[in-house]
Amino acid sequence: MTERTFSIIKPDATRRNLTGKVNAVIEDAGLRIVAQRRIQMTEAQAKKFYEVHAERPFYGELVEFMTSAPVVVQVLEGDNAVARYREVMGATNPAQAADGTIRKLYAESVGENSVHGSDSLENAKIEIAQFFTDADIVG
Ligand code: GDP
Repeated sequence: MTERTFSIIKPDATRRNLTGKVNAVIEDAGLRIVAQRRIQMTEAQAKKFYEVHAERPFYGELVEFMTSAPVVVQVLEGDNAVARYREVMGATNPAQAADGTIRKLYAESVGENSVHGSDSLENAKIEIAQFFTDADIVG
């Protein structure tokens, strides 16, 4: 089934000029980038985006990291896009990520791990709506 998922190219990747290389992995995996914008995330946006992790010990560090440099927010479209992108991203901890995945190729650590991808279709809809309107998405 054709789905849309939400992606973020995180500050560790934009800082190292890896936007194009990450996008190449995404496109080579058969996912289409149907919306994309480079933004400086505000503290309020980062806190809201990661509010499910508010009680975790790394929450403050995560919010600080996500606002430390620009990010690229994206909508990806394709067959089973949510699960497909999770595969393409690789495990949260790059030490456990499979060969060829974005995190294996580029992530620096479990925190600074280059990309975000929605973990369910329901969350994808919520996350897309936090950063894009329907008019921004051209499929
Ligand atoms: P994801 O869905 O693979 O991104 O992983 P999670 O939902 O578990 O965590 C969300 C994000 O929080 C991760 O992508 C990391 O950026 C960050 N994170 C997770 N675990 C840790 C940790 O142990 N330490 C730090 N500093 N950040 C973490």
